[in-house]
Amino acid sequence: MAKRDYYEVLGVQKNAQDADLKKAYRKLAMQYHPDKNPGNKEAEDKFKEINEAYEILSDADKRARYDQFGHAGVDGQAGAGGFGGGFGGFGDGGGFGDIFDMFFGGDGGSMGGGRPKGPQRGADMRKDIELSFEEAAFGAEKDVEVVRAESCSSCQGTGAKEGTTKKRCEKCGGSGQVKTMQRTPLGTFQSVRPCPDCGGEGVIIETPCPECNGQGRVRKRKTLKVKIPAGVDNDSRIRLSGEGEAGARGGPSGDLYIFVRVRPHKLFERRGNDVYMEMPVTFTQAALGADIQVDTLDGKATLKVPEGVQTHTLLRLKGKGIPQLRGSGRGDQLVRVIIATPTKLDQRQKDLLKDFAKSSGEENYRSQGKNGKKNFFERLFDKE
Ligand SMILES: [Zn+2]
Ligand SMILES: [Zn+2]
Repeated sequence: MAKRDYYEVLGVQKNAQDADLKKAYRKLAMQYHPDKNPGNKEAEDKFKEINEAYEILSDADKRARYDQFGHAGVDGQAGAGGFGGGFGGFGDGGGFGDIFDMFFGGDGGSMGGGRPKGPQRGADMRKDIELSFEEAAFGAEKDVEVVRAESCSSCQGTGAKEGTTKKRCEKCGGSGQVKTMQRTPLGTFQSVRPCPDCGGEGVIIETPCPECNGQGRVRKRKTLKVKIPAGVDNDSRIRLSGEGEAGARGGPSGDLYIFVRVRPHKLFERRGNDVYMEMPVTFTQAALGADIQVDTLDGKATLKVPEGVQTHTLLRLKGKGIPQLRGSGRGDQLVRVIIATPTKLDQRQKDLLKDFAKSSGEENYRSQGKNGKKNFFERLFDKE
């Protein structure tokens, strides 16, 4: 299971300020706190996820690394695992974040390499859609509404007002990082962190684009026409490349994943690419054979019920099943015939059946012996 984007977890923008992070975190932490949701596993997981996200994003170093390398850049650093050796005991409780701040900074910047942050790919998005059985079988075109960040068109995603440029950040000289010395009871530590003036970008927008407030991205509601290929099933995923969130600082967009759910059908059941159904037949149809009309995905079709068919026999209508996803050919329709016993017989019908019973014997229930296999009655009557 892929980890969710930390910004998404907290419901904040990629460029959210520390105060916004804290606000979002507090709100969510309160909502999902285990004390408020006793015995709720989902809330507990959510609470953990929120804490992990906040732990990373509230730490400038880790946030910078997460922004640059994603989860891979901060793997194992949430929770007490990250910095080993001797300080583990401080790991719990409220002071955790501060301890991290103090000790982690020292060599934490090495991965960042002193370069300003570059463009980042936008987050992937997920959208669920529900299809009818037939739509899944034959494909469909669906309107899918998404609310996503899109690159601001008036500044081309730069965040600087049209006609203005960005200037180099004076505080960090354009490197995007600043070094600070921290004196602690355990010694002096040098830490490298993203420049507070330019947010690690190395440049400063003098006149922010009024459209996007200098963010380079705007949230928009958009309706996409999505082609659903024939043959999709429950849990099929359709990836729409580049239809996710726009990237920060002009980075490429993430992808949009459409997750498919198929509503059950009142007659049909899907078995791979075959369509299964049960069909009652009268016992005279079963005994004499009959052509009966059955529903298929393509409308009515004629099913040949062979003379002497036994109940629960599976008959096959070739090529009436589900089209192969991204392939050719179709599955079959499987029809299980179930012999219905007549009820509410009138006197004349009863007499006829009694005559029939008198005139029929064991011999009538012997199979025609196509494959020599004995049927249930033969086995029952078998004297050997
Ligand atoms: Zn703009
Ligand atoms: Zn700077």
